[in-house]
Amino acid sequence: MPTKEDVIQHVIETGSLPTLSTVASTLINITGKEETTIYDISKLIAQDVSLSSKILKVVNSSFYNFPNEVGTIQQAVAILGTNAVRSLVLSFSFLNMERPKHSAGFDYERFWEESLAAAVASKLIMAKVSEQDPEEAFTVSLLQNLGKLILACAYRDTYDQLLEEAAGSEKILLDLEDERIGANHAFIGGEAAKRWNFPESLAVPIVYHHDPESYCGDDADLKTEIRVVHLAALLANIMYSGSPIDYHAPFRERAQKMFKLDTSSIDEILEQANGDVAKAAEYFGLNIEGTASIPEILQQANIELSLLNMSYEQINRELVQSKMKLEKLTSELEEKNRYLEEIANLDGLTQIYNHRYFQESLDKEISRSIRQENCLCLVLADIDNFKKFNDFYGHQAGDYVLKELASLWGGVIREYDLLARYGGEEFVIILPETDEAEGLIVAEKIRVAIEQHPFSYDGDDYRVTSSFGVSVFSGVGKAMKKTELIERADKALYSAKKKGRNRVEPYAEKSGWFGKSK
Ligand code: GH3
Ligand code: MG
Ligand code: MG
Repeated sequence: MPTKEDVIQHVIETGSLPTLSTVASTLINITGKEETTIYDISKLIAQDVSLSSKILKVVNSSFYNFPNEVGTIQQAVAILGTNAVRSLVLSFSFLNMERPKHSAGFDYERFWEESLAAAVASKLIMAKVSEQDPEEAFTVSLLQNLGKLILACAYRDTYDQLLEEAAGSEKILLDLEDERIGANHAFIGGEAAKRWNFPESLAVPIVYHHDPESYCGDDADLKTEIRVVHLAALLANIMYSGSPIDYHAPFRERAQKMFKLDTSSIDEILEQANGDVAKAAEYFGLNIEGTASIPEILQQANIELSLLNMSYEQINRELVQSKMKLEKLTSELEEKNRYLEEIANLDGLTQIYNHRYFQESLDKEISRSIRQENCLCLVLADIDNFKKFNDFYGHQAGDYVLKELASLWGGVIREYDLLARYGGEEFVIILPETDEAEGLIVAEKIRVAIEQHPFSYDGDDYRVTSSFGVSVFSGVGKAMKKTELIERADKALYSAKKKGRNRVEPYAEKSGWFGKSK
């Protein structure tokens, strides 16, 4: 990492330090000396005719607002004072300096425009907070960021990159300069001022303008000047950084803290700055495009910010709403699917499982029975003489019996048994892990339950009975087909009917004539 000295060396070697005009450098030299008279200064400036006329033009402009015309440089020096004239000369020599050859990507015009804005702001602020000569503050502010121009010439692409990365933030830029180059522009500006023999009142604020509190000297005037220059830099940032709001609050806060400036004084400065910058630009021969006033800039920025926030909030609200809607739809859809699935498996009249679901379930139970090597029973039930029942009491009473029967059976069987409507007035029950003896017991229990159940519908009481055929599937040995299992239950049922109805019959090899009776 290069040291600060290395950076200075590099700046000098690359010829990146601007050369001061002879008049400017001599002026700096002689104004510091006690024996220098107004006459010496006037004589020096008068040597440069073009500079003299420029100075007289500014002195007589509304920028100064003197009541009488100032005719000669000598008069100007006498009225303005040595410091003010020196500042004017420096301002002219820098503002009219030729664009350095190396500063390819650097926005030279913009740089001086910003510097001039800071200079004008300095003058405005100084006039509000102190009796000190505002001209000096003007010059310091004008030159406060000269270090940037120097670094841009000495490091070219690297510096362009840093400017881009810092994206308008002075603080980030200073850190990046220290990190990547080895010295920041405040330091380099200060070093340049030393080399040009600038007096302390000009050189010191350049070094401290970004961090006024780090100045430890006890010169109160200098301290004031550093603070003014710092505030002026913030004000220029409000105008030029592109993120005015970031600098507006700090400007107000610090103006209040550093100089106890009240709100209306701060407002005055902010309102006046833009117009003064435009005027100054004209007098110093700087071509700047008309900019909006600070209140306008801030207003615009606030509108943009609130628009940004509003649209963000809106988008957010809409997103949340559509998410909620989607979640509601999804859960409704899930519920509907569940419902559809359920009703697809149910019999419409009795609300117990339907034939299709029974077939599927039997497939599964058979597989399980084989896996677990145990038995399952199938009970097929058929209501006795139901045709007659319907004929006698009507179809609606018949429907009622079917429904009532289904719910009655549902209460008798075990949780993992499966009751389904096989079709018409026939029902079927799968009894997993059940052998024939147990299956016959279950069927008998149901038979009794029906026989004993008082069916009452529309003020009439009915008695109903049912016959049952039971077949068994063994998961051990050669597996029986599902159809065979059902057929056997059907044969057993047929046998129960034949034997007089209202009875349970197991499947028997030879048509089951010797099955159980009630
Ligand atoms: P069996 O004792 O021999 O079974 O005589 P059954 O009259 O019950 O037998 P059959 O097969 O001759 O008649 C069945 C009757 O069941 C015919 C039909 O009216 C009735 N049935 C079938 N499904 C329904 C239904 O959904 N509602 C009503 N109310 N009756 C039905
Ligand atoms: Mg039948
Ligand atoms: Mg029947």
